[in-house]
Amino acid sequence: MEIMLPDLAAMERWGMALAAALRPGDVVALNGGLGAGKTTLARAIIAGLGHEGEVPSPSFAIIEPYEDLRFPLVHADFYRLADPSEAEELGLDEYREGGVLIAEWPQMAGGFAHEPGCLSITLETADDGRRAIVEPGADWLGRVPC
Ligand code: ADP
Ligand code: MG
Repeated sequence: MEIMLPDLAAMERWGMALAAALRPGDVVALNGGLGAGKTTLARAIIAGLGHEGEVPSPSFAIIEPYEDLRFPLVHADFYRLADPSEAEELGLDEYREGGVLIAEWPQMAGGFAHEPGCLSITLETADDGRRAIVEPGADWLGRVPC
């Protein structure tokens, strides 16, 4: 499934729609190179869940938890992990408990696509905007907003 996101407004709208569809246990795996728009989409989702205030890029901290939403959410950027086992050392499983993970560079943490709750999104540049290639896990069938 492909979704065109020609500008930031489209990105924000889709992020809002994804936020409305999210359930505890889900993973939003954000693939794509540097500057693809992963953090921008993560911000739109987190804002769509009702978070007020900043959504820092977790590129330095790696893990950024949110506890003010309708379920726990952790936004992670695994780019700097040297080895997938480091994700466990960060306490990722505890952060994910009963909530949602939004993961940039998911493959650096071993990947999540085998989980039925994983929505894999690959962002690519398309003209001045972005294209999202969406691969839903079994739990996402009929739930992906477009
Ligand atoms: P990443 O986290 O993938 O490295 P960012 O989310 O930091 O990328 O985005 C990089 C740049 O792309 C930002 O300047 C952002 O404004 C821009 N951008 C993101 N989504 C879109 C879009 N749909 N259309 C146009 N520009 C976008
Ligand atoms: Mg980023």
